[in-house]
Amino acid sequence: MATLAIGVMLAIWLSTVDIIEWLYVYSRQHAGLHLDELFSVLLVGGVVAVVILVLRDRDLRREVHCREVAERTAERLVRYDDITGLPNRRLLFEELNRRIVGARMHGSCFALFFLDLDRFKAVNESYGHGTGDDLLRAVAERLVLTLRPQDFVARLGGDEFAVVINASTEKHVEHHVARRILFSLARPFTVHGVRHEMSASIGITRFPDDADGPESLMRCADTAMYRAKSSGRNTFTTYDKAMEEISGQLRESLDKGLFHPFYQPVIDLKTGRVVGLEALARWDHPTKGILGPDAFIAVAEDSGLIEELFRQMLQQLSEHGKAWDPGLRIAVNISPYQFRDPKLSSRILQQIAAAGFSSQRLDVELTESALVIDVETTRQVISELKAQGVRVSLDDFGTGYSSLRYLRELPFDSIKIDRSFVQRIDSDSGSRKIIESIIDLSHALGYETVAEGVETREQATWLTEAGCDLAQGYLFSRPLPRDEIDTFLLATNAEPEG
Ligand code: C2E
Ligand code: CA
Ligand code: CA
Repeated sequence: MATLAIGVMLAIWLSTVDIIEWLYVYSRQHAGLHLDELFSVLLVGGVVAVVILVLRDRDLRREVHCREVAERTAERLVRYDDITGLPNRRLLFEELNRRIVGARMHGSCFALFFLDLDRFKAVNESYGHGTGDDLLRAVAERLVLTLRPQDFVARLGGDEFAVVINASTEKHVEHHVARRILFSLARPFTVHGVRHEMSASIGITRFPDDADGPESLMRCADTAMYRAKSSGRNTFTTYDKAMEEISGQLRESLDKGLFHPFYQPVIDLKTGRVVGLEALARWDHPTKGILGPDAFIAVAEDSGLIEELFRQMLQQLSEHGKAWDPGLRIAVNISPYQFRDPKLSSRILQQIAAAGFSSQRLDVELTESALVIDVETTRQVISELKAQGVRVSLDDFGTGYSSLRYLRELPFDSIKIDRSFVQRIDSDSGSRKIIESIIDLSHALGYETVAEGVETREQATWLTEAGCDLAQGYLFSRPLPRDEIDTFLLATNAEPEG
């Protein structure tokens, strides 16, 4: 083949040389016609034309190639997520439509999972978006490895994923798969040398049982997911028709003013007197009676309703507080999510000032997770509040990830020892040692200590002897509605007779 090509090229070359030679001779013989110049022009023109054609052809090929690449990229961008490489929402909807047609044809069913990572925002905000993206990639990878090839995984955006699996009409395979996903995410992720604990809340819905189209399936899965969040995260919930939209209800109940503070007295262990009250939110649910925070705080946080809930709590406690002994401090819990708002302190101060409640009587309680979400904003909010006389307590101490550095750097007024330690006072010497060290540490830093969840006289006695300042718990009182507080105060704080 090569020899043939060389032969052909040689022949072309020889005949070209022959032609040029002949033209040369001819123009010499007819010098008067100036043919040599004409031939030179034609020759050069021909060569230039060939070069232009070759270049143009190369450009065209390049353009076609670029266009093909761009089309393929556009196709990817439209249907795939650029961070994880997983299918995106659009491809998920196409897949759902495809599965719906298939399921209708074969009388089969499938399940859709809506998966939302728990507290992912905290990672993003404290470690930056680079780490956040890497973590999302690692989660995507683990999901793909956990599922079977015929299952479908998509990223919907943010920290939300979706999974579609074939289900069976009798057996609930989806429960099994959901457990497997939660189990696989429970292994810590290491990103840039830092370990991250991840968990997810999963909402599950089935076709055709729950809904008949992609949009309605997504809505059901979303509702179920919020239910999973509100029941404590790191769990899954299957949609059931009777399940009302909890966040919708929450919003409605907030509009109707169905949230109220209950108050739990805080007792001075030395004198036995009530020195303060902690406001704890209760939902006066239209059908289910009085619900505690476990039923709604997580949903309120995830749906952005926590700010409004807090505003209503603060409004009511300001009103109630004005009627009680001005010596009583009233504590309110602030969700870690609220500390992302740099205006939090001015909002609080303005609101209580407008309600006529003194900032000197307010105590705000925050948990260590606020420090993980945004330590700088938290620090700023705390200092601004303290500058106006508001007290700041570190709640649930010992359960989170706060470092001793924060304890020293942030100007707290008191530390609340988590009830998990208090409740093991009688049985576990380790818990007693931890409590003693917390008391020593906080006194060394000038903080007051409050023991939470004191249920027995023995616990109270031991805590008093260990030097703990204040206590709260069922031993003294459960959280009470506003109108029962007066009676309690009257009975407990009455001046001794004589
Ligand atoms: P917390 O701030 O640690 O509140 C103390 C919790 O322990 C309350 O639960 C209280 O009822 C319970 N408790 C008090 N004494 C005892 C006891 O002796 N034994 C036992 N077993 N439990 C006791 P509650 O009212 O269910 O509140 C749970 C959590 O919900 C609170 O924990 C707080 O973190 C959160 N929370 C309550 N109200 C609000 C609010 O308005 N906003 C926010 N962001 N969170 C709130
Ligand atoms: Ca608290
Ligand atoms: Ca607590």
